[in-house]
Amino acid sequence: MSTGGRLDGDSAADVIIVGGGPVGLALAALLGRAGRHRVSVLDARASFALPEGLDARVYALSRASQQLLVRCGAWDALAERHAWPYLRMEVWDGARPRHPARTLVFDAAELAEPDLGHIVENARLEHALRDAALACEGVSLRTGARVEALELSLDGAAVITAEGERLQAGLVVAADGSGSRLRMLAGIDVQQRDYRQRAIVTHVVTEQPHGQTAWQRFLPTGPVALLPLGDGRCSVVWSADEPLAEALLAMTDEAFCAALGEATDHVLGAVSAPEPRVDLPLRWLHARSYTARRFALAGDAAHVVHPLAGQGANLGLADAAMLAECLDRDGDPGERRGLRRYERARKTDNLAMLAALDALQRVFSLRTEPLIGLRAGGVGLVQRIGPLKRRLVRRAMGV
Ligand SMILES: Cc1cc2nc3c(=O)[nH]c(=O)nc-3n(C[C@H](O)[C@H](O)[C@H](O)COP(=O)(O)OP(=O)(O)OC[C@H]3O[C@@H](n4cnc5c(N)ncnc54)[C@H](O)[C@@H]3O)c2cc1C
Repeated sequence: MSTGGRLDGDSAADVIIVGGGPVGLALAALLGRAGRHRVSVLDARASFALPEGLDARVYALSRASQQLLVRCGAWDALAERHAWPYLRMEVWDGARPRHPARTLVFDAAELAEPDLGHIVENARLEHALRDAALACEGVSLRTGARVEALELSLDGAAVITAEGERLQAGLVVAADGSGSRLRMLAGIDVQQRDYRQRAIVTHVVTEQPHGQTAWQRFLPTGPVALLPLGDGRCSVVWSADEPLAEALLAMTDEAFCAALGEATDHVLGAVSAPEPRVDLPLRWLHARSYTARRFALAGDAAHVVHPLAGQGANLGLADAAMLAECLDRDGDPGERRGLRRYERARKTDNLAMLAALDALQRVFSLRTEPLIGLRAGGVGLVQRIGPLKRRLVRRAMGV
């Protein structure tokens, strides 16, 4: 099936984007708005149907991502009803009893900012980006199109779908997620580490209002976060070591809510009415190269981070912005110079964030004294040193 500014079955494109997740669609919208290249997005999914109720996966989008979505023409559709600002964030260490001196508090008012970011559902984000991309003359989207082979040469690139259709372009961008088949087909190696944890995602009702605050407690078995949703509920992202994750998945709803209440120090009182739990394996991954001849990686296909700071989609959207900027010129989109510029710019930024998040994950996994005491002291210190705390939060906000 094909929709958008181009005809069904029309295979001529300057840029083929494999993967219609948030990153691939954002890139399509940006390139479409620039109007220099014909863009074809291929996605393996049968459709982009919205789930009944809220999508289990939600993102904490940074200010930088919000600005990017404005540039894509996707923000207005989200802002109206589907993007919920959060104004505060409280982070504390689960190895010690909760205490104000050991809690990191980030407050938008203190920073003279309107908010710290927005909580957005994955499905709504994809819909807004898809509509923005398809509003552009030169953009088409094809669903049910799984890419299984890739050809890269000096003169051009081509992908071959499961149906055997061959589509050609000057550049192929792989935005096909963390298990990227295209990355493998292009022969790009990765560095990776399995955290031996799973993230359990669901939505719950809490006894006390969330107060537009994102809450996160670091337990030695992994961080657990409550993110404020627009309907008054909280989205849960509970990263847990494999054995605990298995146990949490097997629990009755009542037992899960009791465990979640305890894990979050009952910060919002009793927890109830969980949606079905979804679980995802967690790992750290970084591609050794982001580009090859007439080929680029973007988003989770290039890097995967632990969800503890909610930065995965933000990094991917920043990739899309930089790649669009590097390709925003007339002529051959597969030109080596533009791709090299993209790789240099994003690798530096992504590696810094990947290293910082990995270090945080390791520090908060420590289970022995006196290291726990040192860590608690560090959290208290960051909380007391205003400028350091402001730097940290501004970095996370992307401003
Ligand atoms: C539990 C959890 C919570 C998270 N929370 C946050 C958060 O709060 N904030 C944040 O910024 N990030 C968060 N992330 C990270 C975020 O989910 C990812 O970074 C984001 O989805 C990456 O988007 P993407 O477009 O690169 O890939 P994906 O969203 O994975 O999209 C890939 C697309 O490619 C398609 N595809 C795959 N293979 C093929 C093929 N061969 N042919 C055609 N199409 C194909 C798929 O159908 C899919 O549509 C979280 C992740 C997890 C696991």
